[in-house]
Amino acid sequence: VIDLLSPEGLQVIEEIGREPSIIAFDFDGTLAPIVDEPDDAQMTDQTRALLRGLAVGFPCAVISGRSRADVLERIGRVPLVAVFGNHGVEASADPPSPDLKARVAAWAEEIRAVTTPGEVQIEDKGHSLAVHYRRARRPEEEASRVRALARGFPGARLLEGHAALNVVPLEAPGKDGAVRALGRLFPGRPLLFLGDDVVDEDAFRCPQVTWPVRVGHTRNTDAGYFLGKQRDVDQLLQALLAARARAEASRLEAPPQGSSRRG
Ligand SMILES: [Mg+2]
Repeated sequence: VIDLLSPEGLQVIEEIGREPSIIAFDFDGTLAPIVDEPDDAQMTDQTRALLRGLAVGFPCAVISGRSRADVLERIGRVPLVAVFGNHGVEASADPPSPDLKARVAAWAEEIRAVTTPGEVQIEDKGHSLAVHYRRARRPEEEASRVRALARGFPGARLLEGHAALNVVPLEAPGKDGAVRALGRLFPGRPLLFLGDDVVDEDAFRCPQVTWPVRVGHTRNTDAGYFLGKQRDVDQLLQALLAARARAEASRLEAPPQGSSRRG
């Protein structure tokens, strides 16, 4: 596993700058620091400014577990090529089907019955459910009750997150589905995907992802690259911007075709 900001990693960033690369980001824990109250999560002004600059140089996308409307509001005015919500389930502004909506609402009801009110937050996002137990007095007990119950839900898949359990419909694509959709939007172009969580691993394993990058160093990952911590994301954005600028400059300076070229 290569630290993307190490000398070896910076060579990879140069390559990303030269290629017609697509850059896709998870939101919480990646573009925005993890906070106690999920509702308070936001990008710093610096990250937003860098992302806005990056989105001019590369097609950029966000793939989040939040609902699409929620994450769109948090991103603000950044010209992204695609935003996927609900772990990739929600690729457009289409509302969930009435059947799915009813199924998710029924899961929420059952989970409410086994968790402590006021301590465990059940977020019904229409297409999927997030159960936040970070603020509970006994977070692990709450989580294991939810796990035991949700494993029995027909047609549900349980995704573990940072002090959150996500219940998503079995038939729905995960973040890997979102990555494949990006591959169809931009055929043949290499893709960097940056995420920080277990729920991002499906996308890291996707053959469409040329450069899978995990925020935070862990052994339990299929990502070939990592960043030490969330705050390093700004440095990565800066390095990508600089690499793209160098690639553009050398293209302008390149001698007319017929003479020797790099690579
Ligand atoms: Mg995340």
